[in-house]
Amino acid sequence: MFAERLVIFDLDNTLADRDMFFGEWAESFVRTRQLDPEIAMPILRLADQDGVASRSAFFAQVGPRLGLDEPIDDLVDEYWRDQIGRYRCDTDTTAGLLSLRHLGYKVGIATNGGAAQIDKIKACGLDGLVDGFCVSRMVGHAKPDARLFAAVAEECGASLDHAWVVGDRPDTDIAGAVAIGARSVWLSRGMCWPIVEYAPTLVADNAADAIRFIVSVDTAAQSAQF
Ligand SMILES: [Mg+2]
Repeated sequence: MFAERLVIFDLDNTLADRDMFFGEWAESFVRTRQLDPEIAMPILRLADQDGVASRSAFFAQVGPRLGLDEPIDDLVDEYWRDQIGRYRCDTDTTAGLLSLRHLGYKVGIATNGGAAQIDKIKACGLDGLVDGFCVSRMVGHAKPDARLFAAVAEECGASLDHAWVVGDRPDTDIAGAVAIGARSVWLSRGMCWPIVEYAPTLVADNAADAIRFIVSVDTAAQSAQF
């Protein structure tokens, strides 16, 4: 029905609940190192910067504050082993992606980060559920740069015309949608939209709802044409 239409998803906190996986890791880390959770948890959360901080920078910051004496590289390796083991897609998200493709949409992932993003995509089984994905450090362009979205479209064999972008970050996902002239769904995670200059087309609580909104908007637009 919507042949060749492209929907580009963000990965962390969009297709997979990165916030929950980080919280699970942090609790386990605090417990196994016998740290005081009241002190350690806020330090870990703050240094994490919602996943923006590289893991080397993260451990360089929290190590001295929590009295960790292990080498940073070991901590980073242990962190990724833990996180990749936790990554999964919930069943509503998986069903939504399958329904999009059943309707003829092409589905892609544009994610900022390094090689660990590929491990996350595979751990979630998303490599078998989407038409293509691009990781910023492999492509050399990061969201909101239009060139990362163009690379995803090429991977998917689709055009950016009539595309949608779905993501949780205003400054990368929704700004990226603006950069390519696409419509967007912002996953608000309980926050209010913070930017005056531009805004998402729609707001949703999760990826499955975003997919339902996209299909209903496109269906209504198509019905209006005939
Ligand atoms: Mg995200």
